[in-house]
Amino acid sequence: MKVWICKVCGYTTNPDEKEPPMVCPICYASKEEFELIDQNDVPGY
Ligand SMILES: [Zn+2]
Repeated sequence: MKVWICKVCGYTTNPDEKEPPMVCPICYASKEEFELIDQNDVPGY
């Protein structure tokens, strides 16, 4: 499963999200700060 991760705070979206959020709900970083990664690579997951 691919998830979007916020490179600023590490927040990850739900796996069914096709697009990153407009802003991170945790740190309010813009969607340019999000990166699509495999869920298995999420730190501490
Ligand atoms: Zn964030």
